[in-house]
Amino acid sequence: MAETMPVIFFGHGNPMNALFENDWTCGWSELGRTIPRPRAILCVSAHWYVPAVAVTAMERPRTIHDFGGFPRELFDVQYPASGSPELAERVAGLLGENVLKDDAHWGLDHGTWSVLCHVFPQADVPVVQLSINEAEPAPFHYQLAQLLHPLRDEGVLVMGSGNIVHNLHTYAWGRKGVDPFDWAVRFEAEARELISKGDHAPLVAYEEMGRDAVRSAPTPDHYLPLLYVLALQRLGDEVTFPVEGFDGGSVSMTTVKIG
Ligand code: ZN
Repeated sequence: MAETMPVIFFGHGNPMNALFENDWTCGWSELGRTIPRPRAILCVSAHWYVPAVAVTAMERPRTIHDFGGFPRELFDVQYPASGSPELAERVAGLLGENVLKDDAHWGLDHGTWSVLCHVFPQADVPVVQLSINEAEPAPFHYQLAQLLHPLRDEGVLVMGSGNIVHNLHTYAWGRKGVDPFDWAVRFEAEARELISKGDHAPLVAYEEMGRDAVRSAPTPDHYLPLLYVLALQRLGDEVTFPVEGFDGGSVSMTTVKIG
């Protein structure tokens, strides 16, 4: 049996991190060097937010540049990791019969490749993406993710990519060294305390956590990948935050490593 894999939530933030070398990207690289080498990766990205549960099932997923207004250099980035139809099949088997196997449409979006290009720069680990069904509430995602538990013993790194705090209305585009908003700091601290204690229920019901939560997660897409990672925590797992900080005042770059 393969070594038990950790599960990791990455705060991906600005797609330009793909081209940068900063504290966050160096932290991602360090994780790639220190965790057990996965056989394959299953990534739940904030940017595949569609009205279905789907997995990418192609041999060669394309690199999707799912953004606008960034420099040419970023559109030139390719992350040529192979897919894994075998893992897609396994995931569909674990999650049940309603999973859509997508062998033509999606690929790897920037939630996945802007982080993985630092974690595994050689793109030599196969990657499958799992979509977030936008039609379902938060508890659905937490429960669905629990079905993925066996993957941790099969050499598969399950990762979520989003941001615990993600408010682009208040984000200071292009400005460096901006102090984070009070509400962002408070929500992040509250979330981290609950994560550290393994107290997931309030985090699943995050919409009831008050005004700070509403401003920190004004839309569910970047928050929900966190629930997929929390759902795979096991008794005795160590919980750490190997990367942290805020970008632009209202995007938390915190990484959560479990196990
Ligand atoms: Zn994003």
